[in-house]
Amino acid sequence: MKYCSRCLYPANHPLHLTFDDDGICSGCRIHEEKDELDWGKKEEELRHLLMRYKSTSASFYDCIIPVTGARDSYFIVDTIKNHYGLNPLLVHFNCHYNTDRGHRNLAYLRTHFDCDFYSQVLSPDIIKRLTWRTLEKRASLYWHCLAGQTVLPVHMAVRYKIPLIIWGAHQGIDQVGMYSHNDGVEMSRKYRKDHDLMGLEAEDLVSDADGLPERDLLPFFYPHDKDIERVGVRGIYLNNFMRWDTKAQHEKMIRQYGYETAAQTRTFDTYSDVDSLIYSDLHDYLKFLKFGYGKVTDHASREIRLRRMSRSQGIELVNHYAKKPPAKINLFLQWLGINENTLIETVDKFRDPAIWFRNDNGDWQLKDRVDRHSYGGNHRHAKLDLQEDKCQFEISTSRKPAYAEDRYVLIACGHVD
Ligand SMILES: [Zn+2]
Repeated sequence: MKYCSRCLYPANHPLHLTFDDDGICSGCRIHEEKDELDWGKKEEELRHLLMRYKSTSASFYDCIIPVTGARDSYFIVDTIKNHYGLNPLLVHFNCHYNTDRGHRNLAYLRTHFDCDFYSQVLSPDIIKRLTWRTLEKRASLYWHCLAGQTVLPVHMAVRYKIPLIIWGAHQGIDQVGMYSHNDGVEMSRKYRKDHDLMGLEAEDLVSDADGLPERDLLPFFYPHDKDIERVGVRGIYLNNFMRWDTKAQHEKMIRQYGYETAAQTRTFDTYSDVDSLIYSDLHDYLKFLKFGYGKVTDHASREIRLRRMSRSQGIELVNHYAKKPPAKINLFLQWLGINENTLIETVDKFRDPAIWFRNDNGDWQLKDRVDRHSYGGNHRHAKLDLQEDKCQFEISTSRKPAYAEDRYVLIACGHVD
């Protein structure tokens, strides 16, 4: 397997990487733009764009911001509402894998930013049937989350005639350098299908025989082109306009608003996915079984590029976390009503033969590992000088209430007095 000589990404990254003559990947090369672009000018472009929507919006709302109980939601809302003065409608798709902490982060998000909030909770039974089907088709138990999160804001934009949707980072830019920050790439149905949904749209999953008739999947269907054009719906990504640094952004939100963080089973990043029971747990373990690497590689690669972590420190973290067993596997199996063998046999069919093989005993073994690939040879441009000597992720104070506390009104009205 070819690995990047700067970050830790392997060539089989599902979003696709290319490598230059120094063995440096396209994600690392595009990331260099973060230290080269005139971000002041980019933010002026953003201000100009936002003000156009603020003054012309036919709706009560100036824009839609998709939110979760984690992952940059506080930062995006803070930027758009408090810094630029727009009135956003917050839109939330419930993934059914929620942690208490995620619910609290959402309740405090509504409270601190005083925004209107729309949440969609689909039938538990449909979510289960759909999860089983996407496990069989793509070894994914997260398809419904990605599909719902990427389509609900578009439905809301069409329904309420709110043309502007504001997203955080475009993963194709941030991870693999699929586009330059200068390309101004925007939300598209094609990117959603090809990458977020692993080539599978809801239409492809309709099957009466599997208990998934079309009417059950309608919430996941993309709105018609004509409806999108009529309203003029577009989705922009803030990382095209601001130097994106999710760690620094989360730390600002911890200090200003008490955003809650938590230790994760399979990565050192305690900020990004604290709203989900299984994202950095079983979901990530399945990613490891498929591609031979997990979120810890994503997070270490990001920190290496941001010059807070050396490549060897990153490799140590990958070695520590990559094979950790998922803590929530039994919870998931019980929820879906399947056993572990069924799950693993289903996922085994999707192991990438570029990195996995079966040894003589019939056990799965990795063909290669990132720690066998160090700097050297013609990789003299690979190594970045560190700009911070430590890369630490905080655990912030829990806001878990005492249930007797009178102020605990989370369930009653969905926000915190
Ligand atoms: Zn790289």
